[in-house]
Formats: sequence, structure tokens, C-alpha cells
Amino acid sequence: MGLNILAVVLQDLCTRDSCSPSKVSQHSYDTGINLTMWKIAQLQRMARKEMVKPLLGNESEIHHYDLQKIAVGILGTGDFARSLAARLVCSGYGVIIGSRHPKRTAALFPTATEVTTQREAIGRVNVIFVAVYHEHYSTLSELRDVLTGKILVDVSNNMQINEHEESNAEHLASLFPACTVVKGFNVISAWVLQSGAKDGNKQVMICSDSQEARCIVADMARNMGFIPVDVGSLSSAKEIENLPLRLFPLWKIPVLLALGLFLFFYIYNFIRKVIHPYVIKGQNTFYKIPIDLVNVTLPCVAFVMLSLVYLPGVLAAIFQLRNGTKYRRFPHWLDQWLQQRKQLGLLSFFCGALHAVYSLCLPMRRSARYQLLNEAFKQVEDVWVEEEVWRKEIYLFFGILAIGVLSLLAVTSLPSVADSLNWREFNFIQSRLGCTALVISTLHALTFGWCKAFDSAQYKFYLPPTFTIALVVPCVVLLAKVYLFLPFVNRKLTRIRRGWEASRQMKFHETGHANQFSDFSAENTSIV
Ligand code: NAP
Repeated sequence: MGLNILAVVLQDLCTRDSCSPSKVSQHSYDTGINLTMWKIAQLQRMARKEMVKPLLGNESEIHHYDLQKIAVGILGTGDFARSLAARLVCSGYGVIIGSRHPKRTAALFPTATEVTTQREAIGRVNVIFVAVYHEHYSTLSELRDVLTGKILVDVSNNMQINEHEESNAEHLASLFPACTVVKGFNVISAWVLQSGAKDGNKQVMICSDSQEARCIVADMARNMGFIPVDVGSLSSAKEIENLPLRLFPLWKIPVLLALGLFLFFYIYNFIRKVIHPYVIKGQNTFYKIPIDLVNVTLPCVAFVMLSLVYLPGVLAAIFQLRNGTKYRRFPHWLDQWLQQRKQLGLLSFFCGALHAVYSLCLPMRRSARYQLLNEAFKQVEDVWVEEEVWRKEIYLFFGILAIGVLSLLAVTSLPSVADSLNWREFNFIQSRLGCTALVISTLHALTFGWCKAFDSAQYKFYLPPTFTIALVVPCVVLLAKVYLFLPFVNRKLTRIRRGWEASRQMKFHETGHANQFSDFSAENTSIV
């Protein structure tokens, strides 16, 4: 405590006078403190300096300019230009709009902005947003002289993916070679600009051949409340322009797969549960089409989809074991499959959750009430079957548990939640907990089926019960997982994933001693 006070006294001395060791030594002499106290004071002074720096990021990221003094130009007075102008004004920028008809369009903009001719607007600013369509770029060519040396931000989008051979931004750059073109803000809609970055996607992709121009536009995006993402040179513009046109690119195959599986299991169940009783006993069970059949189909889809999340991981491990390296690329289809595991998992959760809701609603159906009443009228003796009671209890227990674990997996796949986890936590949840969900779901299916697989009466038109079909892929995945978990396989896989390569081991073989090493299996060698 006393030491601290002395340090503060010393620090005071340092800040009031020009601090030097000699002065402090004199003071120290008076107070009986040695020179180490001067060091403490110096450290505290340094700490004070540090406190003015931001807690996160580096000093170069602090911008000391006054935004009010920075004027930005916008060419065009359409929807995008209006929203952009409002947002720029809110973010502290001065905005000058260049229009072909300034008098007609001035009333559309906030009073804090200035609407003038295109030529005048360009002449007064260095950064200009080109909020006009690609096909109108050529009409700006008469402004080439005033545009020289300016930064043009191309915000345009196309109607179709890869609509033009070169990107709009590259086209703009070729029309105005004396300008620096930056592609950006095209992924943000006029609506998001108006309603604020809180609603909607916050990322703004930016690319340009000039790093300085990229930084200027990225700073502006940040000041407007967006997250700039630097995607490099202007050659990336085409990809950025395609981004807003893509419709759930990673969802296409998983959704088609889920629909395909649904159709397959639905038809399978329809044959077994509706067609079979109708043909064999003349029973009309068509009422099962909207609820019953859907409810028995959904868990099959959920179950198979969940196993398809873990199957590519197993295949990847087998590839790595076979290749003896992790550095050889997987086949393209496996790469794609690995990238779509999140979508497969979420669809599995969706089907599982729907199955839970359907199951809860089953007793609400009139047909279920009739069946209950029928059974009550018919049964006079005790209908308690101990085995059935236990089967149902255990079956429901696993079902509830499975949907709980799947919910957890779905929540952690949300970017905001995933970002708050470190790699080990994320891996634990998605890999370990995911496999646990697969095991629990398998137990749910097995307790549902119980011994039906061995009951010949369950084979309608020689078709095995649906759950046995649904169990095939999950069981293959679980058995493969058990194999990969065997110590001798797991050890080799772990080594490969840490960079060990079987083929590189061969480089250590000297040609003259090839025979000597010929029995040296790759697995038993290690990189020196
Ligand atoms: P818009 O409402 O049709 O406005 C286009 C503006 O371009 C007109 O108001 C016009 O303003 C100006 N212009 C300049 N030269 C022109 C010419 N020769 N012929 C016709 N108009 C000319 O379009 P917008 O929705 O604002 O979109 C503008 C740009 O932003 C497009 O490239 C678009 O792809 C992009 N964008 C729009 C959105 C959005 O949500 N709307 C989102 C992302 C990107 P003056 O008559 O005043 O000159």
C-alpha cells in the first residue's frame, strides 16, 4: 500500500516536471527510496499512455478525422441513392448528390444533403458512389475529365448470375481508366441501408486494385455500422456481384435429398399401411394419409439425414487412411458433402422437431378417439402388458433425449453462438454430441421396432418394417465410427491428421538399402 502511494507521488513528479532519473533519485534520496521506485513510476506513466489506446485492435485503426468534414458524392437519385444518402448523413458524412435533373429530385433527399448537377457534385468530392445501373455507365463518359483521379464505388447488381462477361466494376474501370474503382455495398439493399445495419446482413464485401481506396471505403462502411470484408483485387468483383443473386446455394442438395428421402419413405409407408390393408383385408385406412403417414415418415428422414452428417467424416477418414496423408485432396463430391453437413443437420433437426409435434397431436385426432373408444368397449379384461409399457417408456425417453440433443446442435450451429465457442468446444458439441445424438436416435428406433424385425406378420408384401430400412445408414456409420475408434486405427489416423505422411517416409529409404527397409511399414516409421 505504502509502496503504491510512493509510486503515485513519483508518478506525479514525473508528469509535472520533465521526468528524469536524476530528479527522481534526488527525491528518492529525500524519502529513502532507491532507484527501483523510479522504474515503478516510469511503468505507471507508460501504463497511462497505454490506456488511451483501444482495448482491442491496433492504434492504426483509430481514426482521428472529423467526419463532418468528409464529403461523399452519389451519382443517381434512385432508391439506393436515397437510402445511402440518409445513412451517410446519419453517420456524420457530408453528402453531395449528382443528378441529371437536380431541381426535380432535390425534394427526395434529406435537407442535410445537397443535390446538384453530376459535374458539380463530382468536382467537390473524392469518393463517389455510382448508384446507377450498369447499362447507364456509358452516359457518364462526358464527365470523364472531372472524374479523373477520383474513387468510384460501384454498387451495381445484375439480374442474372454471370450476366456479363466482365464484372460491372471492371467494366466501369475500363470506361474510366483514370479513376480508382472499388466494388462494394451491392450486397446491402436499399431497405437495409434505410432501416439500419441491425436488421439484415451486416457484411459489406469490398474489392479494388488499390489498397488505399479499399481502406477508405472499408472505413466508411465501418462508420455506417457495417462490417467490411476485404476480398482483394477487382477481379473478385464478379463473385461479389453474384452473391446477392444466389438462392441458398448450400441448401439446394440437402433440401432435394430430404425431399427425395421423404418421398421414398412416404410411398413405402403408404404401400405398407394403406395399400396392404386395403388389398388384403379390404380395410379403408386412407384417412392416415395426412397425419399418420407423415408422422412415421418424418423420423425416418430425420434419422437418415443425421447419419448423412457423419458419413462424410467417416469416408474422409477412410480416404486419409488409404492415402496415408491428409494433404491429398478429397474427391470433389466429398468436399461438397463435407461443406453441407450443417444444412443436413439442420434439416434433420427440422424433421425431428416436426415428428415430435405430430406425435403430440396424434391423440387430438377424431380417428384416435374412435380407436380408443372401440378398444374400451371391446376390452373387458386387464390390458396392461408389462413389456409394452416398458418399451413405450424407454422409446419415448430416447425420443425426447434425441430431440433435446439435436436442438442443442442446431442452436450451436447459429453463427452468433458458434462464434462464441472456441474450436475445441465447437468440435466437442458438433462431433461428440452429434454422435451421441445419432446413438440415441438409433436406440429410439430400435426400441420402437423392438422385435418387429423378426415378426413375419410385419412383412407386408414382403416389405420389411420401415424402421429396419431407416436403420441401415445410421448403423453403417456407427459401426465405421467404432472401427475408426479402435486403438491401432485411431493412432494411425491421429498421426496422419497431425501431418504424418506414409509416402514421405519412403524418401528416407536409401536406394542402395532398399531391401533392408522393404518391410518397414509406413505405420511403424515416424518422421525424423
Ligand atoms: P433506380 O431507382 O432506378 O435509380 C437509378 C438512378 O440512376 C436514377 O434515379 C437516375 O438518377 C440515375 N441515372 C443516371 N444516369 C441514368 C440514365 N442514363 N438513365 C437512367 N437513370 C440514370 O435504381 P436503384 O434501385 O437506386 O439502383 C441503383 C444502383 O444500385 C443499381 O446499379 C443497382 O443494381 C444498385 N443496387 C440497388 C439496390 C436496391 O436495393 N435498390 C441494392 C444494391 C445495389 P438521375 O435521374 O437523378 O440522374
